[in-house]
Amino acid sequence: MTNTKFEPKTKTHLLEYIFKIDPKNYERTRNSLNGSVTLLSPYITCGAISLTEIKNLILSKNGSRESSKLIQELAWRDYFQSVYLNMGDEIFKSIKREQDFSKFDQIPTTILEAKTGIKVIDNAVTKLYKIGYLHNHERMWLAMLICNIAGTRWEVGAKWMYYYLLDGDLASNTLSWQWVAGTFSSKKYFANQENFNKYGLSSDRQYGTILDKSYEELSQNSDDKIVQSIFENRANLELENNTEYLKSFFEVADLSIETNIYFTITTITEDLKDQSNPILVYIEDKDWLISKQKIDFVISQIKLIVPNTKLLVLSKDDVNYENILAKLPKQERMFPSLTDYYQSFFKFWSKAERLV
Ligand SMILES: Cc1cc2nc3c(=O)[nH]c(=O)nc-3n(C[C@H](O)[C@H](O)[C@H](O)COP(=O)(O)OP(=O)(O)OC[C@H]3O[C@@H](n4cnc5c(N)ncnc54)[C@H](O)[C@@H]3O)c2cc1C
Repeated sequence: MTNTKFEPKTKTHLLEYIFKIDPKNYERTRNSLNGSVTLLSPYITCGAISLTEIKNLILSKNGSRESSKLIQELAWRDYFQSVYLNMGDEIFKSIKREQDFSKFDQIPTTILEAKTGIKVIDNAVTKLYKIGYLHNHERMWLAMLICNIAGTRWEVGAKWMYYYLLDGDLASNTLSWQWVAGTFSSKKYFANQENFNKYGLSSDRQYGTILDKSYEELSQNSDDKIVQSIFENRANLELENNTEYLKSFFEVADLSIETNIYFTITTITEDLKDQSNPILVYIEDKDWLISKQKIDFVISQIKLIVPNTKLLVLSKDDVNYENILAKLPKQERMFPSLTDYYQSFFKFWSKAERLV
């Protein structure tokens, strides 16, 4: 299994690791499952490192030309954050058009149990459950299989993947699923066995699978009885609510103290270090549950920075909800001046590139 996690013990380790990233090598190899991707997403998502810090560190050692692909990929995240800031909860509905061929609220059991017989797919599902990280191609392949071949609504797949990912991020995850399903892009994304063989691991190479077809054939798969036969059995998502598990690590916060400093699982920044009454606010949302593995990761980051923190679990009908929400810090933006809604990443990037 490639792309296993790395575990920097301190912020200094994290910065040293980023300083050693070779953006040229990243650009050349990043599409392959065994390529030199950064594995930084869990640290970015929880706030331990910001996109701007990464960009500046990369540019302090490398020219802007050779760093441009990596910075462009960082900008995808910033773009998704900007769409979320503009649209709010509307990103949880199909944005540009309704999903075509979406009949099911259930995911095929062959996918959930990693038993499709397609090695890259089965190994990706196993890896998601085991380490909570997937390469971008594995995410795209799983999403396209679930939505565009097996006809499941993108919302269901997004909730499933978000639950397990250590880097699960509402904006990047939701909008990427919509991008694959064609509801936030100009067309649906398809990948066939040839594509899996090109970018996957050589040990997973296969021929003659149900996805060993041309793109044209694949896009007409809804009528293909052989393809659909492996998706006959389906199951409802059964994700555990782990709020009690999260609570077991903390004392309950005392809201009467006036000097309280609030943060969330996406803003665990160094700024919290010297605060005397830090409070982790967990907004419980039954639609977007998180795994114990993600909670363990978040706690490891909190322990490094604010071991003395207390916990406040907040739901939308809580009397304190609006008041506390107003006090929560926002995630850092790499291009804070780009506040408008851009219909596509490349419209956004044409402005962002000039600011690098
Ligand atoms: C269906 C699907 C779901 C996804 N869900 C998430 C998610 O919940 N959280 C998340 O952080 N990313 C998500 N992504 C985007 C992307 O796959 C991951 O950010 C990336 O694979 C993380 O690995 P890395 O840090 O090694 O990436 P690298 O390739 O090393 O990239 C460096 C950083 O750039 C940003 N980045 C790179 N590619 C993208 C991209 N396509 N979209 C947004 N940001 C990008 C990330 O912050 C990443 O950490 C999703 C993509 C798809 C197709």
